[in-house]
Amino acid sequence: MKRVEILAVGSELLTPFFQDTNSLFLTERLNSLGLDVSFKMIVGDEEEDLVLGLEDAVRLSDLILVMGGLGPTADDRTREAAARVFGRKLIPCPEVMERIQDRFRRRGLSMPDCNRKQSLILEGAEVLRNDFGTAPGQWIDRNGKIIVLLPGPPHELKPMFDAHVLPRFECFRLGHFFRKTLKLTGITESAVEDLMTGLTPDDPSLGISILAQPGQIEIHLKSLSPSSPEEAEARLKPFENALLSRIGENVFSVDGKSLEEVVGSLLCSLNATLACAESCTGGLISHRLTNVPGISRGYLGGMIAYSNRAKTDWLGVGRDVLIASGSVSAQAAEAMAAGVRRESGADFGLAVTGIAGPGGGTPEKPVGLVYTALAEENGVESSRNLFLGDRDQIKFQSSQKALDMLRRRLLVRRP
Ligand code: AMP
Ligand code: MG
Repeated sequence: MKRVEILAVGSELLTPFFQDTNSLFLTERLNSLGLDVSFKMIVGDEEEDLVLGLEDAVRLSDLILVMGGLGPTADDRTREAAARVFGRKLIPCPEVMERIQDRFRRRGLSMPDCNRKQSLILEGAEVLRNDFGTAPGQWIDRNGKIIVLLPGPPHELKPMFDAHVLPRFECFRLGHFFRKTLKLTGITESAVEDLMTGLTPDDPSLGISILAQPGQIEIHLKSLSPSSPEEAEARLKPFENALLSRIGENVFSVDGKSLEEVVGSLLCSLNATLACAESCTGGLISHRLTNVPGISRGYLGGMIAYSNRAKTDWLGVGRDVLIASGSVSAQAAEAMAAGVRRESGADFGLAVTGIAGPGGGTPEKPVGLVYTALAEENGVESSRNLFLGDRDQIKFQSSQKALDMLRRRLLVRRP
């Protein structure tokens, strides 16, 4: 099996300000050939570091895509480093020189001297034409290992890769990938692991990875087929079904949809309406719902009832309730949900009240204590939750829990 490596060159990529996005593009293209990327490396512009990085790549990998550092300035050293690592000379290529000069001529400019070095090609390398810039790419075959040098600017790299590299990589095609992401909420990562005990694909062409973040878990499934993406999908199906039957209703999406999109389409398909009363989420639930196009059929509106006064005056939460149980309590959440349902005339009232932190916690009511409540015709139910994390994470998990309460209720109603 061929190991594939991507080596991104550029000191800016080692700062907090620039991301290596080219490698995401290249990974997508490589995956389309059934090839996985084994290693990625980012190296700064220092020639010594580049030499070390390239030596390492050649030692570990068989197909190596190097990008960046082919420009005309003094900090563009990829050519020189590659020449040192491969023990090859850099030879000026007259045709490349002519193309670069022509680019300047067409813009009515004369070529600066520094651009000369862009015509230097490694001995024995093939030139990959750059139709969108001055730096050509280079294709190096070294004892069966392929090293491709590509320019860094994305608008040069992408067309060059598609036109001159991808077709030549066809011979390395392993097959066709099919990918699917299951999104879950209302369950912990360890509970997912437990449910999956004994369920690992024995077919080596299937892959599974679990990504957990507060409030949401994603299960990434992939399948590789030698013949077609459809066959890859069919190959995955039995495992996917077995998995789904174990994790059941915790899965809210199998097609990339967000929780708010799922809730939005359930609401619309049931012709049901919703209104929200939010305290600690400060409108986050409403914000998420209103990100869904067409939601106006189901979502009527929301109220941010942050102070006690807002809860009593706007939602009719009893003062006695707040005195006896506090604003962060099941009773308050239920009264808020019932209140917003009553005031709006919606079928469902959804409410959240909690302590998002970092201050305001007590031993009885710690930071992360959040009550969510759902009111409907037949009554109100509430849920007590203890979330961990910073303020943003607690707010997100609260919105997630509230939306999920509604989702599960709507699923029951579904004909
Ligand atoms: P270069 O002249 O090849 O060093 O790169 C020129 C420009 O391309 C950089 O200043 C970046 O803006 C962009 N660039 C280089 N490498 C990358 C990368 N890996 N991902 C995204 N942009 C890049
Ligand atoms: Mg650079």
